[in-house]
Amino acid sequence: MRQSLLGWFDRRGRDLPWRLGHEGGRDPYRVWVAEILLQQTQVSRGLLYYQRFLEHFPTVQALAAAPIDDVLKAWEGCGYYARARNLHRAAGLIAENGFPVNYAGWLALPGVGPYTAAAVTSLALNERRAVNDGNVRRVLARLYAERQPAQSWVQARAEELLDPGRPGAWNEAMMDLGATVCTPRAPTCQACPLSAYCAAFRAGEAALFPAPKVRAQVREVRAVAVLIGDAEHAVLEQRAGNLLGGLWGLPLAEPALGETPAQALARLCERLHAVPGDLLGTVNHTMTHRRIRLDVYLATLPGAARQPTAQMALSRLDHKALGLLKHRQAGLFSVS
Ligand code: SF4
Repeated sequence: MRQSLLGWFDRRGRDLPWRLGHEGGRDPYRVWVAEILLQQTQVSRGLLYYQRFLEHFPTVQALAAAPIDDVLKAWEGCGYYARARNLHRAAGLIAENGFPVNYAGWLALPGVGPYTAAAVTSLALNERRAVNDGNVRRVLARLYAERQPAQSWVQARAEELLDPGRPGAWNEAMMDLGATVCTPRAPTCQACPLSAYCAAFRAGEAALFPAPKVRAQVREVRAVAVLIGDAEHAVLEQRAGNLLGGLWGLPLAEPALGETPAQALARLCERLHAVPGDLLGTVNHTMTHRRIRLDVYLATLPGAARQPTAQMALSRLDHKALGLLKHRQAGLFSVS
């Protein structure tokens, strides 16, 4: 099985920009940034973000020395901004102490979980650590015809199968197989180097494994925001909290319990000493566990300091809100 998969990988493995350096000795900085950035992001889209990020911060020292606002700006569009903040904090520690030399050292860094630590140490240090992500889970569930593979089960199978001589290549091969051949809906089993070992394929039920996960409920959130200025220069505030913390955006308020959106708007304008104007439009935006409906109002505040929106790290929600001005000119009042 190992020979089949590694032989396939040597012929067909993807040529990705973070796979720089020889097998088992990849550049740890590139692997680490790529693994953090690609979590929850498709590779095709992640590639653009990755290249942009590396252009801004080609080395860990450059990342460590950069102000957090520049890092968040370069992260724009990737979502999950807590990852960018952790990357920056960890870069500071690495710039001071050097790259960790083993799995435990990587795991101790902010924002580095078992998956990232296993990926970096196997790919950059040739340490025998199996990665366990959605791709690996799917491939193993099918190989063993396991409908509901628990995390511990996946990790144990992945460790058993890991090639001890080429752990980094094995992990990359599993990732590539899951991403290009053993895909979620339509696996191309005829082209798969592991079909001779695959129980789901033998049963003719490849796509039925694993059983779909029950999705967490999405919470509906209502909020109001004010646009003081225009799309290029507007009053912005820095958000706090885990969700969009550190990013800049239009002043915003969520209605408190029992409060209407109109009352939340009045409270927001009172805090800013601004005068509310017309409804500009509504933005619908979905994040992992939240569906946000944001009503954006025009407001006036003579003498208010406005910031250049293109130079600030804004969330996609705020880009959509600013885009309402253009939509309004086109006669549209809602953006999704
Ligand atoms: S044979 Fe099909 S289901 Fe089995 S591992 Fe290969 S692609 Fe996946």
